[in-house]
Amino acid sequence: MQEVESPLFSPVDPEPPKRRDMCDDCGRPRCVCLCQSFPENLVPIMTNIIILQHPNEENRTLATVPLLQKCIPTEKCHVLRGRRFGGKYEVLEKAITAPDSVVLFPSRTAVDLCRLPQRPICTDGAALIVIDGTWSQARGLFTHNEFLHRLQQVKLSDTATSEYVIRTQPTEASLSTLESIAYTLRWLEASPQLFDILVQPMRLLCHYQLEHGAVVHHSKEYKNETTLVWLLLLVSKTKMCLTLTCSLFVTIKYLSGTLPPTLEPVLLVAWSLPGTEQRTSG
Ligand SMILES: [Zn+2]
Repeated sequence: MQEVESPLFSPVDPEPPKRRDMCDDCGRPRCVCLCQSFPENLVPIMTNIIILQHPNEENRTLATVPLLQKCIPTEKCHVLRGRRFGGKYEVLEKAITAPDSVVLFPSRTAVDLCRLPQRPICTDGAALIVIDGTWSQARGLFTHNEFLHRLQQVKLSDTATSEYVIRTQPTEASLSTLESIAYTLRWLEASPQLFDILVQPMRLLCHYQLEHGAVVHHSKEYKNETTLVWLLLLVSKTKMCLTLTCSLFVTIKYLSGTLPPTLEPVLLVAWSLPGTEQRTSG
């Protein structure tokens, strides 16, 4: 009888497992290397950027800040990691005292980006300060770093839906850190082509991820609202009732400027379902 070898004492392969073939420049596996998407020369922006990064963001594989760092000069982008930043970093202290510095954060008192003068933020160490993390982490960092409250807060409006589809955003208007910075720089540097140049590596990253089995993540808002529409469909006793509830919902969303364009097909399907007609006649 043949002796069965215990897995515990099975022979060990003397060769260590081969590491995936990685690109030295972008740090990604060679088969999904992003280098072709980076600009040939670093984009010579004038604006100083300081990114206050939540510690959990550092180790995230698909983060967007490293992609930005590959596109602009190192001295123009400082990434500071932590939860409390006051009094720790010279570059930040200088920015806090410079009158032109702004914080990109949609607080209640934030002004629209288009209200800022269209010129780079760089005078006397001034900087565009950006918070990097999930939305709840970003809110936490803003709340706990009171020096940010004293600076001008800026928000983005009328932006396209995020193309960073491999991560769930809280709302249809939410953008990745890279996209937010690219929008802001396009305005401040008065350079229409800047957005596409900076966002290109992120587009390629998403393309590769989707090609390798990732699925498109709709925003939490989209998911909630789609569920709500289906729920309305189910509970509506008559077509008239369905029409009224859907119309009311769409009107409210339209007036508040938050109707996700992707919701339209769902409403059309809901409307054309035969079950609705049957209920009408019943
Ligand atoms: Zn590469």
